[in-house]
Parts: sequence; C-alpha cells; structure tokens
Amino acid sequence: MVSQIPQKTQVVVIGGGVIGCSVAYHLCRRGWSDVVMLERSQLTCGTTWHAAGLIGTTRASQTLATLAGYCLDFIPMIEKETGQSVGFNQVGSMWIAEDEERFEEIRRLHDVTKIWGPETHLLNADEIEKHYPLIDKTGLVGGMIAPSEGWASPVDFTMAIAKGVRGRGGKIFEGVTVTDVLTDNGKVTGVETNQGRIETDFVVNCAGLWAREIGRMADVDIPLYPCEHYYMVTEKSEQVPNDLPVMRDQSNEAYYKEDAGSILLGAFEKKAIPVDPASLPENFSFEELAGEFDQFMPVYEAAVKRVPLLGELGMRKFFCGPESFTPDDQIQMGKAPGLEGFYMCAGANSVGIQTGPGYGKALADWIVDGRAPFDLSGMDVRRNEPYQNTTAFLSER
Ligand SMILES: Cc1cc2nc3c(=O)[nH]c(=O)nc-3n(C[C@H](O)[C@H](O)[C@H](O)COP(=O)(O)OP(=O)(O)OC[C@H]3O[C@@H](n4cnc5c(N)ncnc54)[C@H](O)[C@@H]3O)c2cc1C
Repeated sequence: MVSQIPQKTQVVVIGGGVIGCSVAYHLCRRGWSDVVMLERSQLTCGTTWHAAGLIGTTRASQTLATLAGYCLDFIPMIEKETGQSVGFNQVGSMWIAEDEERFEEIRRLHDVTKIWGPETHLLNADEIEKHYPLIDKTGLVGGMIAPSEGWASPVDFTMAIAKGVRGRGGKIFEGVTVTDVLTDNGKVTGVETNQGRIETDFVVNCAGLWAREIGRMADVDIPLYPCEHYYMVTEKSEQVPNDLPVMRDQSNEAYYKEDAGSILLGAFEKKAIPVDPASLPENFSFEELAGEFDQFMPVYEAAVKRVPLLGELGMRKFFCGPESFTPDDQIQMGKAPGLEGFYMCAGANSVGIQTGPGYGKALADWIVDGRAPFDLSGMDVRRNEPYQNTTAFLSER
C-alpha cells in the first residue's frame, strides 16, 4: 500500500534508481529535508538492478575523474552512516592492450591519473598474468591496474543511499507515477501523479531512460535514448578465484568480472541496438530484453581466446537490458533552459552506478547554490540543439 503523498514539498525527485536516490540524499545532506522522491514501481526496478556494478574511477578528464572518483569516498561514508554494506569488492580494475595503439592510450591514462588519481600502475604481460591467472597472455603488449577500484552490488548500493535519504528526513514513495509536470509562467509549480498533486518549486527528473518523456511533459528537450546492453554469466567453478580484478579489454569491447564463483563477461558494443521506449511495457519493472546472441557473439568469441576457461564453463545467464545513452556520451544534467525549477540528471551512458554519487552531489550543489559547483558545461543540458532530440537522430546515433 502506498502511504499518503504530501500536498506540498520543497522538491520532488522523480525516479528511484541510483541517480534519483543520490540526488535526494545529497539534497538532504545540504540541509533540504523536505525532499520527496517518487518511484512509479520499486526502488532500482528500472536499469539500476541489473547493472554489473563496476566501480571504475579512472577517467581521461579531470571533470569526469572528479565525478567518478567521489564514489570511493562515498562508499565508506554511506556504509558508516547507514550501517548497510554496498557489497564493495575492492579487487582493482585492470586494462589490457593487444596492440601498441591501445597501450599508448593506456599509458596516457596512466599519466593523467598522476594528476587527478586514482593510483595506477603499468603492467607487462607477465604481471597481467599474475593478477589474472585465468588469462592467456599471448599477444598482450601491456596493461595497467588501478588497485582502489572494483565492483559493488548495485541494489545494495542504491538501498544504502535510500536508507541515507530516509535517515536524513527525506521521504520516498514507491508505486507513485508522475503523470504531468505543472508549470506556470516559466516556472515549475508541481507534479501530477496517479495518487494526486504535489505543489513544489523544484522538480528533479532522474527517470533514467524515461527522462525524455518526463521532459516532454514540461516541454523540455532531453536528448537520450535507450540501447540494448549485454552481459553473460558462466556457471560457478572452483577455478575462478574470488579476488580477480575487473578486467577491461577495450579493443575487443569486453569487460570481465568475478561474480560469486562465476565469470561475468560484459560487452561495450561499438554499434549498439536502439530500443524504442514505446516498445517497453508501461509497467516495466525488473524486466529484461530478449536480446540477440549474435550481437554478443564477437565479444564472446574474442573473450574465449583471452580467457579460455570461459569456453569450458556453461552459460548460466545471458542478459540484455536497456540503458540510456546520449548523443555525445555525456549525461544530461543541470537546469532546463527556460523553465525555472526544473532540473535533471539522466542518460548515464552505462556508468550510472560508479558515477551516481558524484552526479547526485554535483546536481544537489547546483540546485541549492543556483550554479554548477565546477565546470560541468560538457554535461549541461543547455549544450544540446533541438534537432538532437528527434527520435530519428537519437536512434541512428
Ligand atoms: C547490462 C548493464 C550493465 C551495466 N553495468 C554497469 C556497471 O558495471 N557500472 C555502472 O556504473 N553502470 C552500469 N550500468 C549502467 C547503470 O545501470 C545505469 O547507468 C544506472 O542504473 C542508471 O540509473 P538511473 O537512476 O538513471 O536509472 P533507473 O535505474 O532506470 O531509474 C529510473 C527510475 O525512474 C522511474 N520512473 C520512470 N518514469 C517514472 C515516472 N513517470 N514516475 C515515477 N518514476 C518513474 C523508473 O521506474 C526507474 O526506477 C549498466 C547497465 C546495463 C544495462
């Protein structure tokens, strides 16, 4: 049963995924306790629940590194505050290169991390094998490891943040769908929901792949579009050590993660398949997409050569879920142009778990202080042109 939503509040956050929870939490931390978060189904039910949970903070730009790097400070903080574990396995992240060009890119990344972190170390093929005994090191040119990274449980992570919201006086309502954003004279005045109306001066749209639709309710363009995103999980094996680092092989569009005695092999496909949001059920909640193994096959075939055990173990799970992507691979955040009080943070391009704390903190500061806390112009929703929000452009992109 849904408890009674208030008639009035300072701010409404739409969406109970990792990003909505993080924005709500950081607003509460800034002293806004009259925070209401509305989730149409259950917390994490959209994209968050099925993420692989990689916590990577190594980035080629200082802005991205600041946003992602905050996660490593945030995890111990939220665990201490709420007493809830986020299931963080600090096993490190490793990058591998099969050619000089990729290794050059990794070396550059290593150089910039000396400026803004995290700590990284370059590796030769023998050192890679020491860290990842399951690997066939044939043809490896080199790699890099970031020992402070790893992976967490996306659901535990989000639930811990939600507990932090409640602990600081914020209110979370599940089973409440926002059906309209109310405006008057260029200002937000409230939201209409399936449980009634809430008056508010601030609406924060954190509705993930549905954020574009919420934007339309307020005549605000939010260019993002869901695409299929894949991973598979093998059956369990005693041959899979539980301290394997996350391994990224970008030339073969693959990442590997130890997953409770199994190997999770994920894909960063260069040519992802768009998903028409209208094709998703209206009550999409903890759901998967059918996906096509052919799309995943090139990643799998290359991975079996690199980690031969993968080919010996049966496949326990083949997973395909939707994730929202933006035309330039940067999130849409900040204040809507031309509409006072309407903010957003959506289109996480597959890094919403690891960057969720940083996005949430930055946006909360932006809302409370009325300006971005540092240069976020590359993510500011005002960077977009109207044509970028057409369905034809987005699905092609
Ligand atoms: C296969 C896969 C693997 C991934 N692996 C990783 C990873 O390893 N690391 C990482 O950092 N990221 C990963 N991601 C990405 C990550 O899962 C997402 O970036 C993140 O979950 C996005 O969170 P969100 O809060 O924006 O969206 P969501 O979790 O989708 O939350 C949006 C919420 O809004 C709600 N909502 C929608 N419309 C309304 C409405 N009208 N009223 C009220 N509520 C509404 C929805 O029900 C939903 O719960 C992965 C994604 C996929 C698909």
